[in-house]
Amino acid sequence: MADSPRRLYSADPKAGYLAAKVEIEAAIARVLESGTYIHGRELAAFETEFAAFLGAGGCAGVANGTDAIELALRALGIGPGDRVATVANTVTATVAAIVATGAEPVYVEIESDTMLMSPAALAEALRADGARRIRAVVPVHLYGQACDMPAIVELARAHGAKVLEDCAQAHGATVAGRVAGTWGDLASFSFYPTKNLGALGDGGAVVGGDATALERVRRLRQYGWRTRYVSDEHGRNSRLDELQAAILRARLPRLAAENASRGQLAARYAALLAGAPLQLPVVAPGRTHVWHQFVVRTPRRDALRATLEEQGIFCGVLYPVPVYRQPGYAAEVGRPQTERACAEVLSLPLHPGIAPADVERVAAAVRSALHA
Ligand SMILES: *Cc1c(COP(=O)(O)O)cnc(C)c1O
Repeated sequence: MADSPRRLYSADPKAGYLAAKVEIEAAIARVLESGTYIHGRELAAFETEFAAFLGAGGCAGVANGTDAIELALRALGIGPGDRVATVANTVTATVAAIVATGAEPVYVEIESDTMLMSPAALAEALRADGARRIRAVVPVHLYGQACDMPAIVELARAHGAKVLEDCAQAHGATVAGRVAGTWGDLASFSFYPTKNLGALGDGGAVVGGDATALERVRRLRQYGWRTRYVSDEHGRNSRLDELQAAILRARLPRLAAENASRGQLAARYAALLAGAPLQLPVVAPGRTHVWHQFVVRTPRRDALRATLEEQGIFCGVLYPVPVYRQPGYAAEVGRPQTERACAEVLSLPLHPGIAPADVERVAAAVRSALHA
């Protein structure tokens, strides 16, 4: 019997581990021997190194990307009674974090081509906010491409609103020559295992140049403590532990090269799928995409996905249901471009464990499924 072809997935966290196995195992051994497992040298060093990688003023590690959004918003003074503008074609976590602060989400329509927050729609939402309750904007740099930050920051500033960038899918992306995560008042990152920079467990960080707000994140992540055993305010436990910090340090030196190899695979997909009856990813001028996902669009998404699965090719759908249509966050909102994107998007396998030959196999399978 012939071997069935290797199964391909839209993410493969083990491939990320194997790529840096020696460094990761040395990092883990170092932590185990150190005797310090929470808030020690590894966290401090990772915070310095990650801020330097981004060119950000500072970094505070937290337990995950959802907490990073919530604690950053709280540190910027967002809470009950406030409204926070974001998009609905994001992971539920973005909105869960906004709601956890006590604020209310406002869903801004996306651009039809990039599928990122539309500055025109944001302008409209801010114009309609006569009472100035929108006190923060959370653009989501989805799939690895940064939003139109020059426009979004200008609109938010004019409205007196803070900007928190959700960078969970955009480690190292740039727009207008500046790194995503250095435009807003603060930015949040996730190190969930499948992200471009992934831990082997949960992890997250808040970065930014607002030293006062960052200091507040450091208090909020540990019971509100200003110094040990003395809380200045109501905080909680959201710590990035030493093992995860050390693993992230082991992986960080490879991030730029891994982003570049994602870019090469994306270019290969684009060349092989040119002219096929589906929408290829659109990269706006002046942006460097870090290809967290390679997202194609077709109204026949579900049929295409099923056909590929029969051949051992497992694609992702980020995200199938706008947040405002999910029972836990249901709201009377209609955003046609958002809904069309959710119905059409499909993430083809692209990650450090994918080889050029895999891309060729997937592209051929896509073409044959679409009879193109
Ligand atoms: C992964 C992700 C998050 C949440 O991160 P966790 O570490 O899973 O809490 C938030 N926003 C976006 C856009 C994400 O992709």
